[in-house]
Amino acid sequence: MGRLTFQGGVHPNYRKEITSDRPITPLAAPAQVIIPLHQNIGAPPEPLVAVGDLVKVGQKIADTEAFVSAPVHASVSGKVVAIENRPSCIGKEVLAVVIESDGQDTPWEGLQPYPALEEMSPDDLRQALREGGLVGMGGAMFPTHVKVTPPEGKKFDLVIINGSECEGYLTCDHRIMLEWTEDVIYGTKAFMKVTGVDKAIIGVEANKPDAIELLREKLAAEEGIEVKSLEVKYPQGAEKQLIKALTGREVPSGGLPVDVGCLVQNVGTAAAFAQYLKTGMPLVERVVTVSGSSVENPGNFLVKIGTPFGYILEHCGVVGEPKKLIAGGPMMGVAQITAEVPVVKGTSGILLFDKKDVPAGDARPCVRCAKCVDVCPVQLLPLFLMDYSLKGMLHRAEEYHILDCIECGCCSYTCPSRRPLVQTIRMGKADVLARRRKRQ
Ligand code: SF4
Ligand code: SF4
Repeated sequence: MGRLTFQGGVHPNYRKEITSDRPITPLAAPAQVIIPLHQNIGAPPEPLVAVGDLVKVGQKIADTEAFVSAPVHASVSGKVVAIENRPSCIGKEVLAVVIESDGQDTPWEGLQPYPALEEMSPDDLRQALREGGLVGMGGAMFPTHVKVTPPEGKKFDLVIINGSECEGYLTCDHRIMLEWTEDVIYGTKAFMKVTGVDKAIIGVEANKPDAIELLREKLAAEEGIEVKSLEVKYPQGAEKQLIKALTGREVPSGGLPVDVGCLVQNVGTAAAFAQYLKTGMPLVERVVTVSGSSVENPGNFLVKIGTPFGYILEHCGVVGEPKKLIAGGPMMGVAQITAEVPVVKGTSGILLFDKKDVPAGDARPCVRCAKCVDVCPVQLLPLFLMDYSLKGMLHRAEEYHILDCIECGCCSYTCPSRRPLVQTIRMGKADVLARRRKRQ
């Protein structure tokens, strides 16, 4: 049998060996953390603290009654010194609570571990996900309590835990599977319980054989959780491609994983859920891979949410002529213009590249080679979508399913003319959505 995978995709330079054997290392908190309040898809939570307030680790500092949102908690103990707009890694300024650390890391008194899974109902677990501020930690930052709640008339029959980590350079999920294996498994069981399903698959790309072996060993006596090895190919970890590879099910155009009965969660989210249930400490820190040709001592670090990239890079050391800073992976990550931006719940990587490793040169005209078409995992026609976006032909772009683009960047990566396909298509998508809203 061939390896489990999907149609299309690319094989970028993975360079995972730089950090794959670097264990998760806790990094001391900086003097100040900058905690953006909007760290989720959906409504931004509102501050619950004021300048001058003293806060403790795990204390809720922002929340809202909106369902599609997630509360935010203090990641250090200390004093709130500002609540103001600050640069964020999504490319614009957002409201942030700035806390000056007292260096004590005093936990908030209200933290309580949850009872054992057997003693909790699905509703208890859903409420716990919300209270813990859990969001998708693979980068999407979709509120987890919302994702586990199926819309009216739909239901889950399978939990998929995403351990593919198909982006180059990133190894934080690999280390989590190796070092926090029990938490990944406990979190998987918690997701099974909250959705009421009795079957789960942990999907891991074949370039992490040690993680596959360890998970299989720990699950040998368990029923209902299978570990499957996936072909190494980008974007293997994209939800729809992962579902197709593991189950053969196809999420319909414009649909969601729940339309084919699947709940997909990242391994980091599963581990964070388990740790929250076991300790009562909400999501206030995460593992971040720091790598790239301008990083002197790359590695995987456990950092407080709100830690500025610059502080982390200073700790790792910067060499050469740094030219490009990215939040996330090299394919789907977002280029940054300042290292003042802080780590948020979805920050899987901080990559810094030397000038010599950043491709230069202008885009050239399309040569109609169709390479972008061959690699598109969604079977779109990127060359036309780019043209329609540029010319404002939004009805055509919509007819050609521009909204199904998962912004994986395979088309741009493969284009011999270096055309900014994904960047232009992303803008086209935003225009199509704006037009739809206007129509409504
Ligand atoms: S069109 Fe979208 S989904 Fe297709 S390769 Fe380009 S970025 Fe990926
Ligand atoms: S890969 Fe680039 S040059 Fe080739 S068809 Fe697509 S847009 Fe044109």
